Amino acid sequence: MKSTMQASQLTITSLMLRGSQLFATNEVITWQGDGARHSTYAQVAERAARLANVLHDLGVGEGDRVGTLCWNNQEHLECYLAIPCMGAVLHTLNLRLAPKQLAHIVNDAQDSVVIVDGSLVPLLAAIREHCPTVRHVIVVGRGDTSNLGEHLDYDEAVAAASTVYDWPEIDELSGAAMCYTTGTTGDPKGVVYSHRSIWLHCFAIWGSFRLDESERLLTIVPMFHVNAWGIPYVAWMLGCTMLLPDRFLQPQALCDFVQAERPTFTSGVPTIFTGMLQWAEATHADLSSLKRAICGGSAVPRALIEAFRDKLNIELIQAWGMTETSPMGCIAYPPPGLSEEDEMVFRSKTGRAVPGVELRIVGEDGGVLDWDGQSVGELEARGPWITASYYGVEAPERFHDGWLRTGDVGVMDSRGYLTITDRSKDVIKSGGEWISSVELENLLAAHPSVAEAVVVGVTDALWQERPLAAVVLKPGASADPADLRSFLDGKVARFWLPERWVFLAELPKTSVGKQDKKVIRQLYADGKLEVTEVGKAVR
Ligand code: AMP
Repeated sequence: MKSTMQASQLTITSLMLRGSQLFATNEVITWQGDGARHSTYAQVAERAARLANVLHDLGVGEGDRVGTLCWNNQEHLECYLAIPCMGAVLHTLNLRLAPKQLAHIVNDAQDSVVIVDGSLVPLLAAIREHCPTVRHVIVVGRGDTSNLGEHLDYDEAVAAASTVYDWPEIDELSGAAMCYTTGTTGDPKGVVYSHRSIWLHCFAIWGSFRLDESERLLTIVPMFHVNAWGIPYVAWMLGCTMLLPDRFLQPQALCDFVQAERPTFTSGVPTIFTGMLQWAEATHADLSSLKRAICGGSAVPRALIEAFRDKLNIELIQAWGMTETSPMGCIAYPPPGLSEEDEMVFRSKTGRAVPGVELRIVGEDGGVLDWDGQSVGELEARGPWITASYYGVEAPERFHDGWLRTGDVGVMDSRGYLTITDRSKDVIKSGGEWISSVELENLLAAHPSVAEAVVVGVTDALWQERPLAAVVLKPGASADPADLRSFLDGKVARFWLPERWVFLAELPKTSVGKQDKKVIRQLYADGKLEVTEVGKAVR
């Protein structure tokens, strides 16, 4: 029997028109380092219509890719609205990539226009001649355009364009936006989000982040990666006041922005929040407007969640996702009715699948493992905002009976709470036994002198692999390997205790701000780390 329901299409256009009509006077605020630029939803929507006219006049048509090399700011939001709504595809470019990788991505996606922030023009200028599909470049704000070649000025072009755009009817399954994986395993691969998947994902974020119009929402997660976790779209859908930090992403600048514009809610990776915590502690910056923050992108140490609660009175909530999952996959709210201490056990896990997403753990033989809190295997995911393929490449090894193989390794407990113990390429197997780098990192992060720590597996003549811990100490703090080793002693199996220790001024980071284990492993292999050895591996 067929339902009687209408088949109206879930498109970004309906989302955009809703926001501009219902929340015309609500604000979009972009930080400029020493003050903020305030605009209304109505102004942003009008400029989005003008931008659509500019792009249309440049020949951008249905399905064409428009690259954006931009920070989190109003203009990038205008691109988020205009490009998908005119039927084209928003291709956010990761501005931290090396020129060669960036050119690869632009060429793979065949971007026809690139909208670039003035501060990033040199990056684009360096690759433009290697990107034959790019017919036009539009520059936002000021920058050194001397080597860029022909281009348009964003503000001038937008100001000269009509405020009316005849938005087309769009099939909800057509591509709206695309993002490339960060390429930690092989070449970056393109993921194409549909209008429908973005809409449904908005519902998931709305519910799981528990948002409404009253929120002042600070989006630290970059808009060049996984649509900033879909937050700009869900904020626009709900009419939240949007706070965009532009390129001012240092802890001090972020804390200044918080003090000036008083956000209630934010989202980011653990590294950013660790930096903000340290800055706030050192300077007594007032972050009291913030009530909740979603943290993900890599494992969130329990010590960070506790420090946010105890020192800043902010509820830090762990979430998991990836480029391929739009990214919302799971979130770590504790079950109701527990003591604060027991709640913390669940808050420190990776989380439970949000409605719409199914997760399972699969063993090496391809069989589905029990949810017993012990059986370790690869995480697989399925759902309407999870990719079923990659753009333009066959990658059958990444899929299994219609499920995405995430490359994450973990366990599921009987209540369906996932704990990620490693990326499959980061697992440490010592004398045939698994050691969880994530668990060691979390424990080290709880040491009072430790600011950040990563643990990687390195080759060992006797044990095949052993953990090496790379540690950044807090400013002015001291601790030696023996202290840290004895701090871990008793908290994990004895054979997990690392013998090799390295102290660094800062940890290498990936293009999206996560700790880069690949670089640590390479530095070690090249003999470029000053390693102190302490203790002996025992069974
Ligand atoms: P990306 O596609 O670059 O956003 O990276 C996605 C990857 O980040 C995932 O596959 C995980 O390895 C990692 N990740 C994201 N969130 C978490 C989390 N809460 N805990 C552990 N790893 C995470």
